[in-house]
Amino acid sequence: MKIKVVRDILEANQRIASENREIFTRHGVFVINLMSSPGAGKTTLLERTIESLKDTIPIGVIEGDIRSSIDAERIDKLGVPVVQINTDGACHLDGNMVRECLGELDLSSLRLLFVENVGNLVCPAEFKIGEDHKVMILSVTEGDDKPSKYPLMFRESSVLLINKIDLLPYIECDLERIKSSARDINPGLEIFEISCKTGEGLDRWYRWIKENLSS
Ligand code: MG
Ligand code: ZN
Repeated sequence: MKIKVVRDILEANQRIASENREIFTRHGVFVINLMSSPGAGKTTLLERTIESLKDTIPIGVIEGDIRSSIDAERIDKLGVPVVQINTDGACHLDGNMVRECLGELDLSSLRLLFVENVGNLVCPAEFKIGEDHKVMILSVTEGDDKPSKYPLMFRESSVLLINKIDLLPYIECDLERIKSSARDINPGLEIFEISCKTGEGLDRWYRWIKENLSS
């Protein structure tokens, strides 16, 4: 019985996510669903990315958090449209939450929409929201065993950004182990090693965005 309920929820979400996708496609908006555990650097990555690309690409952001508008305020300072979703306890975004805030964005003026999911390495990967791609961030401080322990997010993502590589000299983290176990789970996964603090590696991420926008 419980299994049936869960399946019905996922099917209902799938339908709404497909409708969202049609809305985004009609407006020519490319959507990235950004996922990670709390503190891996989602909002900081968005700040860097927006600073670098906003002059050439019209960008908007949906911020998902259980509570607060701290992240939305950070994005708002950069002068791009941002909407905050507070899930009020829910640990992931779903298609319906994203749908309900679309009226607050002028989609026809956007080309790229980032949806920052709730910080959580588990269920954001289970829910589509109408995105073109799921992208995940893993901080090297989280440990090199995370692909093996949380395979679904690595399987569902198109890109893995390994962040905070500037900290590698100070911690025990086997970068090759992360990359090989992630590729075992998802052979097509694009992997970029980055530091949002120093800017290292971010050019490849920006290039991935531009290539996917133009294809
Ligand atoms: Mg954040
Ligand atoms: Zn959840």
